[in-house]
Amino acid sequence: MRYNFLALHSNLGNLSNMWTCPQCKRTFRNTNQAHSCKQVDKESFFLRRPAHLKKLYDIIKEKVNGLGEFREEAVLPDVIFFKTKSTFLAIKVKKAWLDIEFFLDHLEDVHPVKKYLQTSKRRFVHLVSIDDEKEIDHQLMDWISHSYKLIKSS
Ligand SMILES: [Zn+2]
Repeated sequence: MRYNFLALHSNLGNLSNMWTCPQCKRTFRNTNQAHSCKQVDKESFFLRRPAHLKKLYDIIKEKVNGLGEFREEAVLPDVIFFKTKSTFLAIKVKKAWLDIEFFLDHLEDVHPVKKYLQTSKRRFVHLVSIDDEKEIDHQLMDWISHSYKLIKSS
């Protein structure tokens, strides 16, 4: 599968070299990186999608709000990044489900983890797909919380 998350964030070791655009606050590897400051409206991702996907998204966001500060960044075609220093959570709005991607410092090769990939010695990106509110359970939120702390302390 294609990992947009990794394509955009594979170079995790160079965070201190990241440049933040003063206009749109997006971060880039290269100073004065050419880009459009126009932000994509994440709401557009939920058009022509089952209504419950937005509800699931809102539930996760509400819970993530409890972790502390972060910012959202919507990127075409379908991904919303949740960032502190860098991305700790990515939510992709698919046709009938959400793909949730987050980092752990160890591998959790257990249900409901669908895919995972080691990105550095102590960094593993995990993917969980959800299409029902009950899948936003204690374990998933524990993992997301772990990812938040991991990225914030990196
Ligand atoms: Zn900009």
